Amino acid sequence: MDLSFLADEISGLKEKGRYRFLRRLSSPQEPRIVIEGREVLNFSSNNYLGLANHPEVVAALVDCARRYGVGSGASRLISGHMDVHAELEEAMGRFKGTEGCLTFSAGYMANLGILSTLGSPDATIFSDEWNHASIVDGCRLARARVEVYRHADVTHLEDLLKASSSRRKIVVTDSVFSMDGDIAPLPDLVEVKERHGAILVVDDAHATGVLPPRGRGSAEHFGLAGRVEIQMGTFSKALGTYGAYLCSTRKMVDYFINKCRPFIFNTGLPPAIAGATLASLGLLTREPGRLVALWENGKAFRREMEARGRKVVSDTAIVPIIVGDDGDTMAVSRALFDRGVFVHGIRPPTVPEGTGRLRLTLMATHTAEMVRTAAVRIDEALRERGIGTDGAAAEPG
Ligand SMILES: *Cc1c(COP(=O)(O)O)cnc(C)c1O
Repeated sequence: MDLSFLADEISGLKEKGRYRFLRRLSSPQEPRIVIEGREVLNFSSNNYLGLANHPEVVAALVDCARRYGVGSGASRLISGHMDVHAELEEAMGRFKGTEGCLTFSAGYMANLGILSTLGSPDATIFSDEWNHASIVDGCRLARARVEVYRHADVTHLEDLLKASSSRRKIVVTDSVFSMDGDIAPLPDLVEVKERHGAILVVDDAHATGVLPPRGRGSAEHFGLAGRVEIQMGTFSKALGTYGAYLCSTRKMVDYFINKCRPFIFNTGLPPAIAGATLASLGLLTREPGRLVALWENGKAFRREMEARGRKVVSDTAIVPIIVGDDGDTMAVSRALFDRGVFVHGIRPPTVPEGTGRLRLTLMATHTAEMVRTAAVRIDEALRERGIGTDGAAAEPG
């Protein structure tokens, strides 16, 4: 067996500056983390509200593990559906204001499930070009026709919808885009999909627990409750745990229980994770201060960057700092790490060619001083690499 392709492809990636590797963490997911034995400020975590290591969430996980054990033992449809799964789905439905909710073992799995279940050879999926990879892969699995519309371009979407004679039309979009932190034009998307009788699926992975006023997702943010057919999101980001949800009508949930292969043929969420998620949902509902602290940190970071002549474009907790060249991107990220600030570099194919970037994420638990330190160090590291204040850093991706 000739396995030389392994080494060949890896050295190709290394030459292009696109080699990926794992970094080892020896601490919880906090504003200060220990990576490879070094303590650094963490600006690369989706733990937006600091719930991943919250004592109440940890205690709920332990309690639930004592009560139900660790594994759920089977697919939910066989014997893996426990009280705590039902309680979590009821709580999520109340939180989102929908009749029904179905949980999945990951957001990746949920998107594969949603698109492959709604898609069919006589359906067309209309997908934003910057959608998350799990949506792209869901489209592939769906065996439907797929039309990719230009990023956030509702006019382009409408042209494609008009030209389509498909019996079933599905529009799918991230609500907060994971690499740029911009928000999808949901009010316009809703108008257009209603004009053309399409089903709208929004991925609230980076909206839940993040968007004002209460962190209940993009439909709440825009006052569009009841006009989005499927709201999906993950528990793994602002809620600090693991797994994902689909919120919709009871009929839709019933359909998915019967038809969705990534639900049917996958073991249910570990019950302790479901219990921990219930606890973090409770904290998000009872203590809105975390959400406020997150927006304040976002504003403070943008202000600090602007004070250094660097305009950053983002409406959320995700802030892209465009560098451009892949090698430069990783060098700046490395230089920051050496100065005690961890901001991950993102390169193609995750982002378009020539838009290599630092992807900074803020957390409610960062102090004002930490936010300022990040801005100071980022500005220094960019300057050292000759990336000026009037250069690529001013351009959004
Ligand atoms: C993280 C993410 C997912 C995948 O969620 P996991 O629970 O990590 O599998 C899906 N969509 C978007 C937009 C994401 O950012």
